Parts: sequence; structure tokens; C-alpha cells
Amino acid sequence: MQQTFDPIALIKEGVSDRISKAIRYSKELNMHVTGLGVEEYTEIFNKYESLDNRELREELLKSNKSVFSFLLRPLDKIFTAKGGSISYNLQDNRLETLKDYVSDISDGLDIKTYLKKKVKAQYVIDPNGLVMIDIDNEGNLDTRIIRSSQIHYYNNRGNKIKEIIFAPYKDDTDDKDTKEYYRVIDSLTDSIYIKEGDEVFLDESSVIQNFLGYVPAFILGDTYDPNSELFLSIIDCVLEDANEHLRDVSVKVVHKLSHGYAKYWQYPESCTTCGGEGEIKSKNDSNAVIDIICPTCLGGKVKNHKDASDLTIVAIPDKDDPILAPNIAGYINPSIEIWQQYKEDIIGLKNEMHQTLWGNYFSENTKNETATGRQLNVQPETERIVGISNTFSSIHEFLLTAYGAIALFDKNYKAQVKYGTRYLMESPDEVLKRYTEAKEKGLPQLVQNDLLDVFYQTQHSNNNVEYQKIKKLLATDPFPDLTPTEVKDLGVEGEDLLKKIYHSQWINQLNEAKKVFMTLEELNKDLTEYVILKSINNVKEVQQTTD
Ligand SMILES: [Zn+2]
Repeated sequence: MQQTFDPIALIKEGVSDRISKAIRYSKELNMHVTGLGVEEYTEIFNKYESLDNRELREELLKSNKSVFSFLLRPLDKIFTAKGGSISYNLQDNRLETLKDYVSDISDGLDIKTYLKKKVKAQYVIDPNGLVMIDIDNEGNLDTRIIRSSQIHYYNNRGNKIKEIIFAPYKDDTDDKDTKEYYRVIDSLTDSIYIKEGDEVFLDESSVIQNFLGYVPAFILGDTYDPNSELFLSIIDCVLEDANEHLRDVSVKVVHKLSHGYAKYWQYPESCTTCGGEGEIKSKNDSNAVIDIICPTCLGGKVKNHKDASDLTIVAIPDKDDPILAPNIAGYINPSIEIWQQYKEDIIGLKNEMHQTLWGNYFSENTKNETATGRQLNVQPETERIVGISNTFSSIHEFLLTAYGAIALFDKNYKAQVKYGTRYLMESPDEVLKRYTEAKEKGLPQLVQNDLLDVFYQTQHSNNNVEYQKIKKLLATDPFPDLTPTEVKDLGVEGEDLLKKIYHSQWINQLNEAKKVFMTLEELNKDLTEYVILKSINNVKEVQQTTD
């Protein structure tokens, strides 16, 4: 059943229910991930606490920001994974044109960097929001994130938008203008509707044709919930735990600061000012001596605070008297038990959230796990990330296709994007261990090579230059899987054998610049020259000794 799109009626109805829900949802997600508005949110807890505690807690409030930064760290793997491909489906100068076009889609960022730096966070905190290609004030294409709070209504099919009405804006340049302006985009046009009082009408002069034939916007979320009609965030499954975490942390903080100090006690001692009388002599206005309340103990007769330099005199005990010191004063320690329990609960919750989100426990102590145990453990996390990676591939493909259509002026242009899914989940030590095992067990050479490659990738996961350098140097070895003796035993001779024999010696004498900047071809040539020079020198040496 296709309903016709009626912007005037939709504007009159106000923000759609679905968008209102999306805005509230995003506010809660945002509070957990970035800490924004956390004071307001924790108001709900106050029915369990006294006014004093509430004030204290609000002052010392700690958001879930750091927990979510930790929980969401695996998302970065989407952008560092190896493999994957981008098919531009173009040749030569058209390819160059498009590549140049998408090298800066916003703020100087290319598509992938933009997705990582801007879209990734929004994907978590506002899954019903959009990424959209628009035209900026200078008439250039610009990619923007549209938050759900900037939307009035949209009609979607999957992640694609069929029609959209943006939240209204006012004319900043004219204070007296009370009209509200609504931008509306559908497959045919991009126009402005004006609301004046109860009337809504189309501003005919604003209408421009939509060249693309679709709204160039993509909804970020990938899990649709038919009940709420919302796209759910990946952290939706841990929201309840996150609320509990927020509450537990704040309770712990309040406990720590209100009950966490050791308490000083002592038997009463007379006030030094009044000598324990509670009153001292003073003079009134007519110079007559009168008794007034002691200003130090306020009539309490005993000391109520102590200076560090205070000294308590204890009478020397007679031989039958009990020795009082040091039992005349001391400290009472606060309950460590409850403090410990708070701490354990919080760590437990954090681990539980990790388990719910990624399917595996986060262990700070991975050394106790066997290599295979760790592997099994990593599997669900990998699957989960592959799913999210597909979402980001789709967004990338959507943006690239739309930019291509505009840059090449070809509505039917289509790019294909698939992100790599080879994630580096293990530590270099773990991979090296697996490689050694594979070698010992004599597993197929292909498997061994693959593991060795993963090892180098893991070791240099944050330094692609270093990884590329090692890959190039490995590629110059003519027999990477064999030792020089094995090569010789196979009957290999001449230049190939010498290349193998002198390979590590040659690498050692290369300087860093050569290793980084020479191409594989140049390195191979350098190795050949090195080997020739070596063998000439050797022949000379042999001749010299025979002479
Ligand atoms: Zn006193």
C-alpha cells in the first residue's frame, strides 16, 4: 500500500512519533557514550538517596564515558583490517577524476577516514540519524551527518531514504520573521515549505530538480526493531547494564567520599580555653566582669577538634594502675568489605557488558589461556565485527556511488566496496606461537606463510610503513621457506644460490631509507648487484691465495 507523500499534512502534524522516539533514544545512548547530560539522567536514582547524598553524588558524578570507550574499542578493527577491495568500475582519466573528488568529502577527509572519525561514533549514539551528501554555502559537495534531532519526518526503505522533511529553521537575518522553513527532499525535487501560523505552503521559487533521482542520504543503523520502528544501536543490548553501572559507580563514589575516611576518636579531654567549665570570664560594655559561654567549645566543656601539635598529658601510672596509652585515642577504619563489594560489582558489570556486546569475556590476564582457547573465544567477536564492517562497506559504497554519479554526471554509475575482514585479534606472541606450532607440525607451507604474514601485521598493526618494508624484504628472498643448506642440497647453484646465502648479509648492510623507499624491483636489482660484487671479490680472494 503506497501512501502519497504529502509534506503539507506532515508538517502540520508536527514531528513524527518515530522521530520523537529516535531523538529520546539517541539522547540516552549519547549520555552513556559521551557523558552528555548525565546529571539530568541520574535524577531517576534520587528516590533511593537522601538530599545530601544526591548533592554529593551530582558533584562527583562519573559518567560511563570511559567504560564505553573501552567497550567500543573493537570497532576500530573495521578500519584496520587487511584485505577488502574497492571497485570503481572506471578507467584512466575518469577514475582519476573520481578519486580526486572523493579524496576530500568533508573537512579534508577521504571516505574511509570520514567514516572512522565522524560516522563511527554517530552509528553508536544515533542509529536513526543519517549521513548525507549536500551542497555547502559555496556550492561545493559536502558530506554531513544529520542527527535525528535535525529531522522532522522521513520515509525509508531499508537504509535508503525515500522522502525526508528536515526540522525547521528560522530566518536568522530577520528577527521579526516568525515563519518556519522546512526543507523537503524526495526523488524528484529539493524544495522549501513555509509554515506561517497554521498555514503551510510550498515556496515555488525554491524548487530545484533532484538530479540523482533519489535522496542522497543513508540511515546509519543496521538493526531494525519492528516493535519500536527504530534502528537499534549496537549497545542497545547493554543499555540496562549500563544504567546499573552508572548507578553503582556513583554509589561507590559517594561511599568512598562520605564513609571512606578513617575516623579519629578519643576519650573526652577538657577544653583548653575554659578548662572544662564551659564558661569564661569576660567584660561587658560597662566594664563589669561577667561569665560568657566559652567560644572554643561553645559550652560543651570538652575539646571537639584537635591540632596536629596537640599533646595529651597522661598521668604517670602508679604500680597498680592500668597503663592507658595508647588506648586513650585511635582510628576506626571504614568498612573495607562493602567497598570491595562495590568494586567487584562494577568490574563484574563491565565484563558482563563486554560479553553481551562481543560474545567474549575481556580477560586482563590472557596468559592463562591456551592458544586454542583464546582462538575459540575470539570467534564471536570477529563475527560481530564482520556484521558491522558490512554496514560500513555499504555506507562507503553508497557515498562513493553518489559522488561518482555527480562527478561523472552519470546517474547509473555504480561502485562496489567490500571492507577487509582479516582482523588482528591476537597479540604478536600468540601468533608467533601458532606459527612455530605450524612449522613443527609440518602444516602446509601456505598456512605457515599466512601465519607469518599475520605475525608481521600484528607486530606492526599501527605502522603500515614498517609492515610494507618487511613484506618487501621478505619478497626478495628467492627461497623464503628453506635454509641455504637446503637450497644447496636441492642442486641450486649460481646467482640464485648466492642470493640465498648472502640474503641476510645484504639486508643488514641496507640503510633504512633504501629499505623504505626502494621498490621491490629496485631491491631485487640491488641484491643481484651485491651478490655479483661479492662473488667477484671472492674470486679475487681465491686468486690471491693461489698466487
Ligand atoms: Zn571551653
